[in-house]
Formats: sequence, structure tokens, C-alpha cells
Amino acid sequence: MEKRILLSLAHMGGNEQKYIDEAFKESWVVPLGPNVDEFERRLCKFTKAKNVVALSAGTAAIHLGLLMLGVGPGDEVLCQSFTFAASVNPVKYLGANPVFIDSEKDSWNIDPELLEKAIIDRKKITGKYPKAIIPVHLYGMPAKIDEVIAIADKYEIPVMEDAAEALGSLYDGKACGTFGKYGALSFNGNKIITTSGGGALICPDEESAKRVLFYATQARENRPYYYHEHIGYNYRLSNISAGIGCGQMEVLQEHIDRRRQIHGLYTEAFKGHKYITVHQNPSEKYNSNFWLSTITLSNDSPVTADEIRLLLAEHNIESRLLWRPMHIQPIYKDCPFYGTGVSEDLFNRGLCLPSGSSLTDEDINTVITCIKSAFEK
Ligand SMILES: *Cc1c(COP(=O)(O)O)cnc(C)c1O
Repeated sequence: MEKRILLSLAHMGGNEQKYIDEAFKESWVVPLGPNVDEFERRLCKFTKAKNVVALSAGTAAIHLGLLMLGVGPGDEVLCQSFTFAASVNPVKYLGANPVFIDSEKDSWNIDPELLEKAIIDRKKITGKYPKAIIPVHLYGMPAKIDEVIAIADKYEIPVMEDAAEALGSLYDGKACGTFGKYGALSFNGNKIITTSGGGALICPDEESAKRVLFYATQARENRPYYYHEHIGYNYRLSNISAGIGCGQMEVLQEHIDRRRQIHGLYTEAFKGHKYITVHQNPSEKYNSNFWLSTITLSNDSPVTADEIRLLLAEHNIESRLLWRPMHIQPIYKDCPFYGTGVSEDLFNRGLCLPSGSSLTDEDINTVITCIKSAFEK
């Protein structure tokens, strides 16, 4: 059978099993232990963050981040519409209401101008400012995060940064996930590194990290019996999963380098193509990890993104349409939306290409040849 070329497959470095074996030997098969501590240390070192709490999922990280920001019933939270549902679902877990903001054309992420417009407008309509802002670094591409932070500071609204896809991405030399008051990372199976399932919350200081840990471990008060003053969650990462994470941290930079290389191969192959544009870092300030390489088709393209997806599928190649914006999802369609049509347009014209770090140059060439053939009829 022909080899199947996947979008983004988990890619083990080799030492993951060693950390798991050690955990078994020492009976650390629990949601705490040396691997969890070591994984957090390595994440801190890599991102230059001072306080990172390892959790069971990126979604859990966003949930606890918003909880720490005081988001509660009836509050409004401003969220990038062009994203995965996990960016915004935690807003609803807390009984709050999302307000969606469209993307700008350079980074494909939250549009700072629309963001400020929405802040002013929500204050007018509801009498109070939104409680938090959730920008996302989609596909690893940094958002215009300096402008977002400047607006957030101006109106004193804290930022919950969704860096689930952007571990290793830099804006102006600084790690995505470290700009907001809180930053969420994900280690789900298809992300840049995996712990099979897991996430982390980057926190502003030791005290808040301790509080996050408290909520993540069922909010047990410090007494000799179980005593609860708050609702807690079971969100801590297991020591086994963290073992995989420790092994993955050893190869993270290599894997990012490879994803950037793959993006370079696509860029070179489609340079000057009449209908295809490979999404690029908008300027020197942006340094995407290129978790996924993405393309858009021009308006006069004779084939659609979905036709290319189907053609690739016929050749055993997985690709995926871009995220369908939240403001047109059935579950969120009644939420307020501030937009100009950018994210819907991207959704209509865009495609994610196989980008996993274990893919060979030959695999990428197979993808490229197949895409080019779609235009040769
Ligand atoms: C994957 C992802 C999440 C959620 O992370 P999980 O670890 O799967 O819970 C959140 N936001 C974005 C943008 C993601 O891609």
C-alpha cells in the first residue's frame, strides 16, 4: 500500500520511554512527581517564562487562566473568531459570554483595530468593559501581539494568550505565550510536541502559579482532612505524560527547525505560482514555528481548496481546510461579532498542508506535485 502522508503526526525523539520507565520503577504513576517538575523546568527554560504549571490539556489551561482573571457569569470575553473551539469554550464553562473579533490579513490573527472598536462599543452597550481578551497565534504564526497588549493595557483588560499551536514561535525575539497575563500551551497528539494529551499555563508570578496548581488539584485547603472553600478541578498532568514531555523537550528545537524547513520547501515550490500563496511571516518581527504550513488560493483560481483536499486524499495525503470561524459556528452564531470578512474569506480559500517533522523531503515533493497537477487540466 502507498504510504499515507499525514498533516501532523506525533514524532518521538527516543528518550520518552526512558522517563516513563523511571516513573514506573519509582512508582510515580500519579499526577505529580519528578517528570512533572522536570517538564515544567524545561518549559520555563525554553520559553524564558518563570512560572509554568503543567496541566492535563491546553483547554484546561485556558479555563484556569480565565478563572484566575476573575471571569464569571455574565461577563463578556473578547476572543479571536478565527480559531479552534477550544480557545473559546472555557468562556462558556465559566458562564461568561464570548464576543468575537475578526482577523487582520497579515498574521491572520486578531485585528487590533477591531479589538479596540469592540472594547469601546461593548462599554457603550453593556456599561462595562469586557473581562479578558483571548488572542490566538494560529498555526504558530504570532499575532500582532504588541498592538494587542498596548490596547489591553490602555483599557486595563487582561490578556489570556492562546499559544496552543505556537510553542517555539517568537515575536520580536520573545516567546509566544509570555506576552499576556496568562499563556496557554497544548501538547495534544498533533501539536508541535505531544505528551499524548496535556497542556500548560504560563503564569505571571509564583503566587498565581501556586493558585493555579491549587485549582488544578481539586482546591483542597491545607488541613489534615478534606476541606473546600472553592470549586476545584482535576486538571494536573500525570507523571507518565510528563515523562513523554521531557523526552519531547530534548528534540523540540530540532522539530521546529524541520517544520520551518518544510515551510521553506513549500514556499520555494509555489514561488510565482499563479493561484497559490504560501502564508509567510509578515515581517522580520515574526518568527513562526510553522506548526502547519498553510496556503491560500487566489479568487480566480480554477480549483477550490476543497477540490485540492479531495485530490490529495485520493493520493493518500491528508490536508485540512482552515479553521471555520467561531462566529459562523451554529453554537456561537448568535454572539456579537466585530468583523470585516477576513476570517471567512480565509476559510473559503485556504488549506493546511502536511507539515509534521517526521515527513521527508520526498513526502513534501509528493504533496507539491499532486497540488500542482490540480491546475494542469
Ligand atoms: C489544540 C488547541 C487548543 C486546545 O488544546 P488541547 O490540549 O487539545 O486541549 C486550544 N486552542 C488552540 C488554538 C488549539 O489549537
